[in-house]
Amino acid sequence: MGNVLVIAEHKDGTLKKVSLPAFAFARDYVGKQGGEFHILVAGCNVGTVADECLCYGAARVHVADHESLKNYLCESYTPVVVQVAKDMNAEVVAATTTAIAKDLLPRVAARMKAGMASDVTAITDKGHFERPVWAGNAMVDVEITTPVKVASVRGTEFEPAPRQDAAGEKVDVSVDVDLGALKKRFLQFEEIKSDRPELTEAAVIVSGGRGTKGDEGFKLIDKLADLLGAAVGATRAVVDAGWQPNDLQVGQTGKVVAPDLYFAIGLSGAIQHLAGMKGSKVIVAINKDEEAPIFTVADYGLVADLFKAVPELVEEIQKVKSA
Ligand SMILES: Cc1cc2nc3c(=O)[nH]c(=O)nc-3n(C[C@H](O)[C@H](O)[C@H](O)COP(=O)(O)OP(=O)(O)OC[C@H]3O[C@@H](n4cnc5c(N)ncnc54)[C@H](O)[C@@H]3O)c2cc1C
Repeated sequence: MGNVLVIAEHKDGTLKKVSLPAFAFARDYVGKQGGEFHILVAGCNVGTVADECLCYGAARVHVADHESLKNYLCESYTPVVVQVAKDMNAEVVAATTTAIAKDLLPRVAARMKAGMASDVTAITDKGHFERPVWAGNAMVDVEITTPVKVASVRGTEFEPAPRQDAAGEKVDVSVDVDLGALKKRFLQFEEIKSDRPELTEAAVIVSGGRGTKGDEGFKLIDKLADLLGAAVGATRAVVDAGWQPNDLQVGQTGKVVAPDLYFAIGLSGAIQHLAGMKGSKVIVAINKDEEAPIFTVADYGLVADLFKAVPELVEEIQKVKSA
């Protein structure tokens, strides 16, 4: 029997889609190992998020609703997660791999003296976790032998849990966090506002590499993205050059994405970039070098100069859209 607790992420009173693969992971785990799937919603004024969480097959949704949890801090959230995990006798504590999960889960694991597997891509019949190593070049089978196990879940590898009729029960969690006693203080959250979809949630992504040569080429990337309602991505070379902000980086040390359609434009397809996007359903590559490694994973490849090919592509899409 292996109860699983999943920490749900939310924003502006709405459950984030990024949590749905972790719900699917939990359902898969309890399907194989027995036990119950529970969700924890922590924050301030999170009633509607908790109601939404009842629609994904959890036996219980634990609601830690308190002013002291209004702004995420690893130090204030950890005791809440640990308390709920202990109360419900969790065998696994999980969340989708996000910036928050990368920050929170190792601390939870340390507090619970739990072994941890990060970026889990599958659960074996024995209840072990599969995860990639060496930029996805090898997969390892991880058996965690501690009574409690912590897992971050690679969102692109589990189909989002489907929404169903509300079921299960909500349980209030009493929160006793003294923010003044913590060694860290929340000052402010500087959000980057964009009309484009979030990289990890977008159905279409247009990514540019060093071949764009900076601003001039990225204007073309932006134009194509806006036409398709897509998110914009970038390689690390682009981010390191300061051409794009680092939250757009796709890859091993950036975001892992798996959209329906991924445009890879003027990027070579280095192994560290492929590690973040090769799960995309359809990959279209435009590169002037026919030997570029990106063509080994592309479904459609165009050997061309992007400064010529992208404007032509934009023009053709505009024609189709206005027809
Ligand atoms: C530990 C580690 C982690 C890393 N993590 C990441 C990561 O998360 N994400 C990531 O992206 N990288 C990562 N990298 C860096 C990675 O190894 C590559 O250096 C990087 O991805 C290269 O970026 P690029 O493809 O934009 O540039 P390049 O490799 O320089 O490729 C540019 C491409 O553009 C093409 N090109 C040039 N001009 C044109 C044109 N006019 N039209 C069409 N094509 C053109 C060229 O043929 C070339 O293929 C990491 C590296 C290390 C060591």
